[in-house]
Amino acid sequence: MKPLEGQTALVTGASSGIGAAIAVAMGAAGANVGVNYASSEEGAEQVVGAIARAGGRAVALRADVSREERVSAMFKVLIAEYGTIDILVSNAGIQKDAVFVDMTLEQWTAVLSVNLTGAFLCAREAAKEFLRRGVVPERSRAAGKIIFISSVHEVIPWAGHVNYASSKGGIMMLMKTVAQELAPQKIRVNSIAPGAIKTRINEQVWKDPEGVASMCKLIPYGRIGEPDDVAPVAVWLASDEADYLTGTTIFVDGGILLYPGFRTGG
Ligand code: NAD
Repeated sequence: MKPLEGQTALVTGASSGIGAAIAVAMGAAGANVGVNYASSEEGAEQVVGAIARAGGRAVALRADVSREERVSAMFKVLIAEYGTIDILVSNAGIQKDAVFVDMTLEQWTAVLSVNLTGAFLCAREAAKEFLRRGVVPERSRAAGKIIFISSVHEVIPWAGHVNYASSKGGIMMLMKTVAQELAPQKIRVNSIAPGAIKTRINEQVWKDPEGVASMCKLIPYGRIGEPDDVAPVAVWLASDEADYLTGTTIFVDGGILLYPGFRTGG
């Protein structure tokens, strides 16, 4: 029995990295998958192909999640294709790093627009459809599930990345507030906060052996994570096995939040 059989999931930023792995895992779990991408049609089509080869159904959907009209058009196409949406994984995210005093308004706005406003726009659109449709007991005990891909930086400050850390801190309160507001309507809203996962967002670090060594000092479990460390957590969180979870963040971080400096200090 596939845990997401008959459900429809939209994964944003799914043409690469964590989003691609989640889209493939959702497809394998039985969901129809909307594979959102901003510009890499080739990447999105590869993910759609991988889902189809495993016997699932998927469609590539181009949309810049920071643009309100693009987001609503994307939801219309997805709903026309599969009838409704049951699961949103808001994953699209970018970094534009600079030390605080040199950070331009453009760098600040770009990151907040994709990471936080994009999450807001997609979650609002998904919630409207969940509320319109309500619970369909044959498919799920919940009327809908929203999963934000946050970061350990929703709680850990990060010098040189104030725009990114602020966007993820914002995601934490977006998630909790929407969870509080929509729980009575049986909509579950949670976050997954990855630690260091090997994707192109941080490839300049993991492609350099010194970067790996320095990163691993922060990871008690002793290795950088892979997108497939995150994907099964998203599938489980979307499934009815997690029906009593709402308003929470699951950290998938190899123990970064255990403050490893305190193993020997403090
Ligand atoms: P990635 O760069 O492979 O994935 C980000 C995706 O978002 C890309 O496919 C990109 O095209 C897409 N995207 C960017 N702007 C977009 C827009 N305007 N509209 C739609 N899509 C857009 O990197 P990743 O590591 O897989 O990142 C996925 C998420 O995971 C991000 O939210 C990131 O902040 C978060 N995260 C990553 C790590 C890590 O170590 N890799 C750690 C914590 C959190």
